[in-house]
Amino acid sequence: MNLVLMGLPGAGKGTQAEKIVEKYEIPHISTGDMFRAAMKEGTELGLKAKSYMDKGELVPDEVTIGIVRERLSKDDCKKGFLLDGFPRTVAQAEALESIMSDLGKKIDYVINIDVDKDLLLERLTGRRICKSCGSTYHLVFNPPKVAGKCDRCGGELYQRADDNAETVQNRLDVNLKQAKPLLDFYGEKGYLKNIDGTQEINKVFEDIDQLLGKLAD
Ligand SMILES: [Zn+2]
Repeated sequence: MNLVLMGLPGAGKGTQAEKIVEKYEIPHISTGDMFRAAMKEGTELGLKAKSYMDKGELVPDEVTIGIVRERLSKDDCKKGFLLDGFPRTVAQAEALESIMSDLGKKIDYVINIDVDKDLLLERLTGRRICKSCGSTYHLVFNPPKVAGKCDRCGGELYQRADDNAETVQNRLDVNLKQAKPLLDFYGEKGYLKNIDGTQEINKVFEDIDQLLGKLAD
């Protein structure tokens, strides 16, 4: 099964990715891991990517796509793979289509863990941290017994600057804007499967599992 996993920050993509690769024994291929591996192996493309990253520049598409092509050609992808963090643009999605066709494969599903923006905002801005001992809480998912106070040491809880509503909102907007054309592209191809990510974690996985079970048969 050849899968692409999508979802905005806070949608629970990482958790679901872990569950999918564990159950279906396919490699979880994230962009970051792919770059790190290519650099470590010292492949030509890996070294090229490194030269851009060392300068703090974006790695150009042709290099990224080359690295994806090399990775998907490896033996451990014969049974399938879960791509995470690639493609990010329609141009990259089109390149992935041509890689797949060269390899005699096709993408089965693009799984999008769908959670509306307001809920993501609530999830992402709810984190609170204890000033004294560093324990973390969440106003909705793991609230302290007494508001504003640490259960463990009674210390004062605060919100990190990156977790404030404005920063999170901007991050979500950027991600939404980037994802939209990609979701349209995959929708038109008929690969896109939206999964309701507002449900409880295990229920989200059940829905994914039901979808993938059909492929595994
Ligand atoms: Zn504390």
